[in-house]
Amino acid sequence: MNICIVGAGYVGLTTAAVLANIGHTVYCTDRDATKIDKLKRGIVPIFEPGLTEMIALNQAEGRLFFGANVRRHMMNCPVVMIAVGTPSAKNGSADMRFVRCVVKDLSLVIRSPKTIIMKSTVPPGTADWIDTLLQEYGVSPDMFELASNPEFLREGSAIEDTVHPDRIIIGAKKKETALMVKELYHAIETKFLLTGRMEAELIKYASNAFLATKISFINEISRVCDVFNADITEVARGIGMDDRIGPKFLHAGLGYGGSCFPKDVNALNYSASSKEVELELLEAVMKINRSQLEIYMNKLNHKLGKNRDHVRIAVWGATFKENTDDIRYSQAIAFMKKLTKQGYEVYAYDPLVSPPIPSVVWCSDKYKAVVQADALVIATGWPELIEADWNRVKQLMKRNIVLDGRNCLDKKTMEAYGFELAGVGRP
Ligand code: NAD
Repeated sequence: MNICIVGAGYVGLTTAAVLANIGHTVYCTDRDATKIDKLKRGIVPIFEPGLTEMIALNQAEGRLFFGANVRRHMMNCPVVMIAVGTPSAKNGSADMRFVRCVVKDLSLVIRSPKTIIMKSTVPPGTADWIDTLLQEYGVSPDMFELASNPEFLREGSAIEDTVHPDRIIIGAKKKETALMVKELYHAIETKFLLTGRMEAELIKYASNAFLATKISFINEISRVCDVFNADITEVARGIGMDDRIGPKFLHAGLGYGGSCFPKDVNALNYSASSKEVELELLEAVMKINRSQLEIYMNKLNHKLGKNRDHVRIAVWGATFKENTDDIRYSQAIAFMKKLTKQGYEVYAYDPLVSPPIPSVVWCSDKYKAVVQADALVIATGWPELIEADWNRVKQLMKRNIVLDGRNCLDKKTMEAYGFELAGVGRP
């Protein structure tokens, strides 16, 4: 099957690579001509384990192509998958301008029947809205079918998640449309749920909202652990042993970030309130996430004392989580900004990124960042940071305070090295 994927970002590129790998001919297009030019030359503009290799293999075997002429590629393919961004608008709703632009482009090139598949995360009602929009742009309704097929991959393990997904959700009005979309994934063994379009759109939002809720829940429990001198990592382990709950997304820390959870929780909240439904639980989830950084900051301030003059903090990790180069809504970066605002000198290191942040000094090496530091903050749980040479770190630092913002360090081991480990819910 010839498939056009619009949007060569984390979702578009991964989907393109995997669909080509299972035998489809895939044309991946993006309005960013520089990005496409790089991709044509084998340079993958994002970091995602295994992606570069899979793209190269499928380009070489003539199943994966890149092009910046969005309309031409859409015109030539019977299946068009939309994977453009749906960022947060100022009012918290999903900003649909990129989707609208794709729909407009599509309307200009639909000359033969097309199946349009929405992979981007979009508010409930989007498929109906696109139906109406295409007809307003003059496209006859018998020239297209629209399916909602939300994506659940996680950055850092995107290829693995796409090859072995927990489930594939397909929302369509007609059964034959759903079955046609299902057939695209013929080589992928998983559970399929064929459902309505509105339901599919809501499944994606509700899934992310639930996971964000789990994180805020455990962060709230960590506050209780803190005042009762209990270890949140032990408490989380015990909770997670219950099959009904499970161990995932029960890691207390600086809070959730990234390009999905904050915007999707906000957008779901906005969609509900537009229909006069108040989401009290999700309001609390967002509030807990916002205040989490403040709680960590108080911990650090308490350890360091009142004098901020020439107090030097090393921050390890800037991406929103390990194994990605994505810094969108990163709590690590939000924490760095808070530190500089409070008057601390910040020396930062991340294995992949060094975005410009006023007053933050980026170091090319994790050990350089800790030289003469009064405290070290672990803001992202990169394996290379957890497995650092802690003896060396101890010798390079001025003082011995380590604030573990991801609860990824073993307390006893760190104490054996002579560190004072600080965190929320780590007695
Ligand atoms: P991204 O920002 O990495 O990529 C989006 C791409 O779309 C960009 O390269 C951009 O240039 C391109 N684009 C924008 N408008 C275009 C247009 N009119 N024509 C052609 N190309 C256009 O985004 P992403 O992280 O891949 O996310 C895409 C969607 O998938 C979002 O709705 C997101 O919420 C959802 N999603 C993301 C993830 C994730 O982990 N990143 C996981 C699941 C779902």
